[in-house]
Order: sequence, then C-alpha cells, then structure tokens
Amino acid sequence: MLPDSEIDRVLVVTAHPDDADFGSAGSVALFVDRGVEVTYLVVTDGDAGGNERTLDNAGMAELRRAEQLAAAKAVGVTDVRFLGYPDGRVEPSLELRRDIARVIRQVRPDLVIAQHPERNYRFIAPSHPDHRAVGGATLDAVYPDARNPYAFPELLQREGLEAWTVREVWLTGGSTPDHYVDITDAVDRKLTALQAHVSQVAHVEGFAEFVKSRFAAWAEEAGFGEGRYAEGFQVVSTA
Ligand SMILES: [Zn+2]
Repeated sequence: MLPDSEIDRVLVVTAHPDDADFGSAGSVALFVDRGVEVTYLVVTDGDAGGNERTLDNAGMAELRRAEQLAAAKAVGVTDVRFLGYPDGRVEPSLELRRDIARVIRQVRPDLVIAQHPERNYRFIAPSHPDHRAVGGATLDAVYPDARNPYAFPELLQREGLEAWTVREVWLTGGSTPDHYVDITDAVDRKLTALQAHVSQVAHVEGFAEFVKSRFAAWAEEAGFGEGRYAEGFQVVSTA
C-alpha cells in the first residue's frame, strides 16, 4: 500500500450525491486533517433520488448539488465537481471514461477512491447499477486512459492535459474489503456530512444510530475494538 506520506492528493469519484459520504467521508476528513487535498467528482446530480417528490428533476438536481456541497464542507472538502449525467441511466461509456480521465489529469491524484464495479452478493445496497457503471468507468479511466497519452488524444492536444498515473485505488461497497480506516475521530463529521443530504435522510427515523451501528460493526470486523468506528475498502494497486 501507498504510505500515508506519499498521498498528497485524493480524488473521490461517485455516481450520486451522498455516495461519498456513506463510503468514505470519515477517511476523507482524516486526510484533510493531514493537509491532503481532496476533490469530489460526482457523475450525476441525483435527480432521480428523494422520497418527497415536490420538485421536478431539475429542481431536485439543484437541491442535491447544494446538499453535496454542504456535506463536502462538513469534512473540509471545497473542490466538488459534477458531470451532470442523468441519474439512474449511467453506463460505463467511452464518453464517461474520457470525462473522468480529464479530471484525473487535472487533479493528478495519488489515490482515487471509487465505487466497486462488481455486484456485492452479501449486501445489495452498494451495487446500484449507476455505482457499478461509475466504478468500472473510473478504473478504466485510471488504467489505461489517464496514463496513456494516446488515449483520448484531444485531452492533450486541445486541453493540454498531460498523462497521469494514479498509484492506488480504494474501492467502496465491495464484499471483500481488505483495508479498514479507524474513523472514530471523524465519525461525528461523517454523520454531519450525511445529514446534509436532507432530501435523502431527514425522513429516516433513527438515522444517526443506524449509521453509527453500521460503521461500528466494521470496526469490530477490523479488530479495532468496542466503541470504535471504521470504513472499509478494497485496495487495488494501480502503479
Ligand atoms: Zn448512490
């Protein structure tokens, strides 16, 4: 694994507003504490989400962007970018790979955090088709697109974006995590970030307890002991 001292920039790529907050906001808060620059790239505006549909899709998209900005701020992230793909219909297309590769070349991250492209048969929630599509496109953008100067040559020729090699990817939502981050010191900030998605979670009774018990269970799985909280990842070496 990449040593902490070699992680200066992190890019978190997700399908929907709130995915980053469920998957990795605690780890992100700890990165920000250490002075790491973190960028969020959100592929859709989450315009098909939400339970109370008093807004049309355009209104929901605007609301969910605002909620994601507030959630990011709660863990110290101010660079949040949206690609505006339609929620619920994402495919791992060449266009999406190019759009993610572009941001990788702009941000030049050491580490990318992405969603697992394979279906989790132990727990279905992380395996939304948009998550799998964005996870697959992100891995393809990491290897080979972003590092190969001949891939999407317009990125170099028209936009001057040089090839960039991401050295490691952490996948969220998989069934076989092999790296756990103790987020106990950041669990309150993670919860604040999640609760910033008012349209998604405000109606959920016992939401804070649900979140805490889920991430406490991972801490136990990781062997961190009682009263601790953890996020889990599958690490992919991409150097
Ligand atoms: Zn999602």
